[in-house]
Amino acid sequence: MTDSQPGPATPTTGAIRAMRPVSIDAVRLDPSGLLGGWQDRNAVATLPHCVAQLDDSGALDNLRRLTGDSDREYRGFWFADSDVYKSLEAAAWQLGRGPADPRLREFVDSTTSLLAKAQGEDGYLNSYFTTVKPDRRWQELRSSHELYCAGHLIQAAVAAARAQAGDGLLAIASRLADLLVDHFGPGGVDAVCGHPEIETALVELYRTTGHRPYLELARRFVDLRGHGLLGEDRLGSQYYQDHQPVREATEATGHAVRQLYLLAGVVDVATESGDVALLAAAERLWESAFATKTYLTGAHGSRHRDEAFGDPYELPPDRAYAETCAAIASFQWNWRLLLATGGSRYADEMERALYNAIAVATGLDGRHFFYSNPLQLRTGHDGSHEDAPSRRLPWYSCACCPPNIARLMASLQAYLATADGSGLQVHQYAAGTIRVTVDGAPVELTVRTGYPWSGRIELTVDTAPAEPWTLALRLPGWCTSYAVEVDGVPAQDSAVRGYLRLSRQWDAGTSVILDLHMPVRLVAAHPHVDAVRGCVALMRGPLVYCLEQADLPGGVVLEDVRIDTSAPVRAIAPGGASPIPIVLTATGTTTDPASLGLYHAHTSPAGDVAAPGKVALTAVPYFLWANRTAGAMRVWIPTVG
Ligand SMILES: [Zn+2]
Repeated sequence: MTDSQPGPATPTTGAIRAMRPVSIDAVRLDPSGLLGGWQDRNAVATLPHCVAQLDDSGALDNLRRLTGDSDREYRGFWFADSDVYKSLEAAAWQLGRGPADPRLREFVDSTTSLLAKAQGEDGYLNSYFTTVKPDRRWQELRSSHELYCAGHLIQAAVAAARAQAGDGLLAIASRLADLLVDHFGPGGVDAVCGHPEIETALVELYRTTGHRPYLELARRFVDLRGHGLLGEDRLGSQYYQDHQPVREATEATGHAVRQLYLLAGVVDVATESGDVALLAAAERLWESAFATKTYLTGAHGSRHRDEAFGDPYELPPDRAYAETCAAIASFQWNWRLLLATGGSRYADEMERALYNAIAVATGLDGRHFFYSNPLQLRTGHDGSHEDAPSRRLPWYSCACCPPNIARLMASLQAYLATADGSGLQVHQYAAGTIRVTVDGAPVELTVRTGYPWSGRIELTVDTAPAEPWTLALRLPGWCTSYAVEVDGVPAQDSAVRGYLRLSRQWDAGTSVILDLHMPVRLVAAHPHVDAVRGCVALMRGPLVYCLEQADLPGGVVLEDVRIDTSAPVRAIAPGGASPIPIVLTATGTTTDPASLGLYHAHTSPAGDVAAPGKVALTAVPYFLWANRTAGAMRVWIPTVG
């Protein structure tokens, strides 16, 4: 591994960029920390599980049909190839982290060989359209996902090249991309894909190969969108973000994953093209998404119907769709905006999504997953089917989410810090080491922290150049009070745009302690979020907490519980064998609405329920819910009075 292997979405030197990603191996996470633990779990459990499912689900057999190595019927959705590609991408990032896992190595090598053999002479590669609908190639772009699948193959190839996990994929992806340039490039067919993804993938391929037609094609796909090329169907053009050109759009809308993947690609195209107006359009849509259409957990998509964004402030906790892929797409989009602008708000949203909407999707065993991530599950909910299950499931008929988690977790260390000639910027806090180059000289730090359970972060400078440089530490948006000291002496350095900037000549052995104070916070929603009016949510640091039925005394029903906001809410370490380092304790009342009809005469806000009794409440991190017995859960808790 060289010192400068890029990670995901690394802009070229000519791009608009305020910050520069570090190389893929610059950050090493300590497996005893939360993020390092997730990465290890991904390597030993989630990723092998995904690879095994590719055989069980038929996704690999579908590709083997192309080579005559399988005579089974096509199985699964018509975009099942993308499950293979996302797993390949995850495996590539993981192999780059080393030490090499022979099973992953074999998976990457054998699948690369399969794809090389399966690819058409002209570069076309899609198992469904080649074997099931051979005369419909490129004819059904609104729903075909052909370009979406191509995009994920390209991203896998880019990961393999950057992680030095095998070159064969890049040649396959480039042949397919060359076909796309021939067919859809300038002078070719005017078309876009119903499911964005190809845009960001082509820009990444341009960054890896330097071949400009890939960037130009991505730009063309962005510019052609919003002109009705996809035609009309029952879902409407907003579903596909084809109702309005991106440059004119002011509202995040339609299918949430599609909208967010598109916007990641838009930022990629804008930054690599030097297109300031297009970047401004992406930031405008960010305002729409994050001012009025984001769940407290960082999730997006408030409607099961069309898996879509809702109206502003339409954020029902119980019917939240909140797809895992949308949270991952948001993470990727915010990373690109962070790099482009240096705005800490984007790192804030990455943190919110990572610890809540993304983390909740994976069970403690790493082999069970949520697809939708509501903020409330009601008592009596029928969670027996895939649409809104009560428990995480090992796989889904539409399996987009689990391998998406795997590819993010396998490359997670690349999203935590940036570095340039002025110094090092730490955006997310995790135990581990950071090795970067500042103005040509090596800088090495060790980070010790129990974050996010503790706000105390100790950074020790192990290696530093003689020249002064700046260590910039993000002050999270949730943090209103902090202390910082350098070698035991309080530092007076100021915060600039959300970053504490410590500029000095650093000696090896110098220690910085940043203490982000982490009181429990009671959070209310804007009154227009009708669905949670009269409720509060509990947060500590970046973590959203929730109540689970499992923590209530026998006979108390979760929906009958109210929280007393005048009583203290405390953070405590439960100790023992609990997998939860910090829980929150609160006091509430339990009510008895059994005598009430569905509708009844209004008395007063608190006077319509009988026999309040006190109940001790224990809240657990939202991302850890449903790891015990199946049962009701809620993030937003009605208040007493
Ligand atoms: Zn998904």
